[in-house]
Amino acid sequence: MNVNGTLIWYYHICKREVWLMYNHIVPDQNDENIALGRFMHEITYQRQEKEISFGHVKFDIMMQTKDHIVIGETKKSDRYEEASRYQLLYYLSVLKEAGISASGLLLYPSQKKRVKVELALNEEKKLKEIIRNIDIICSQTEPPEVEKNRFCKRCGYREYCYA
Ligand code: SF4
Repeated sequence: MNVNGTLIWYYHICKREVWLMYNHIVPDQNDENIALGRFMHEITYQRQEKEISFGHVKFDIMMQTKDHIVIGETKKSDRYEEASRYQLLYYLSVLKEAGISASGLLLYPSQKKRVKVELALNEEKKLKEIIRNIDIICSQTEPPEVEKNRFCKRCGYREYCYA
């Protein structure tokens, strides 16, 4: 299966959500958090040219110095920083596999905050383990059970999980 940055992100939020997304179960499009995410995405991109694609991953920003590349991901808040960090680490690992050494930046325009992200050896190991776990989750025929967590009240799958 093709693990992507979005699944890596959701893995840190909710394992059930990973399964639902992978199986193309569409969340409630009228959910206010989904609408806010879309809005933040659009206003952020008004200031940027467009996303940069590399293979099957897309970055929001790429900066290049003489001997180094920095890729950036823009997020609406640092509420999900660990998820965002691993999403960016995944992008860095895809670049590394292609022989490109890069570092990352998480950008939170609404909080005027930026966080540096580096692909250290221990992070690479953790990332491989996460990818293996996502593979296992997505190959199951049923989604993992609902585990109430602090993200449920903001989740577009609320009605699906709690109906
Ligand atoms: S509502 Fe909760 S359990 Fe269901 S997918 Fe969302 S975060 Fe996961």
